[in-house]
Amino acid sequence: MATREHRCGDCGVREGQLHRPNCDMEVCPFCGGQLLSCDCCYALLGIDCSPGTWAYKHGLTQEQEDQWFAMLEVRGRIPYIEYPIFCARCGKLWPDFFMVSNEEWKKYIQIDKRGEVICRECYNTIKGYIDALPKKEMPTSKNRKLSQADYEEILNRQTEHYEGGGND
Ligand SMILES: [Zn+2]
Ligand SMILES: [Zn+2]
Ligand SMILES: [Zn+2]
Repeated sequence: MATREHRCGDCGVREGQLHRPNCDMEVCPFCGGQLLSCDCCYALLGIDCSPGTWAYKHGLTQEQEDQWFAMLEVRGRIPYIEYPIFCARCGKLWPDFFMVSNEEWKKYIQIDKRGEVICRECYNTIKGYIDALPKKEMPTSKNRKLSQADYEEILNRQTEHYEGGGND
């Protein structure tokens, strides 16, 4: 087992400790997003922060910030824990990130894996497999069980996620 000592890449605390204030790696215990940038403080304190408001421009007042911090402590701040990131296909640790458009991601990455990390090599492999499949076809006259509208509806439709009987 590796015994490398893990430290937060931003604020430098050791694994198991709370991040230093304003660390951009701290996770919000209310939404699971980045604490520095989520809007939970406004939502939970009932502050309007839409464009044009005082809060939108200046953020929280000192008093509101103290209140927010108290709420975080009650909820339980999330300490720095090292969760390795690995490719969901090949298991490679800490793959380099790369950018693809949402559209491309949806085209090549199957629906249940879209929230996962895929390494560049695997992405290219998957892309090759998908591109090799027969093309999706528009309904033609001899194949007119579906109207154009039905066809669009099928392409764009997303139904609720089915939580099958425990798969882990
Ligand atoms: Zn940190
Ligand atoms: Zn949040
Ligand atoms: Zn991979």
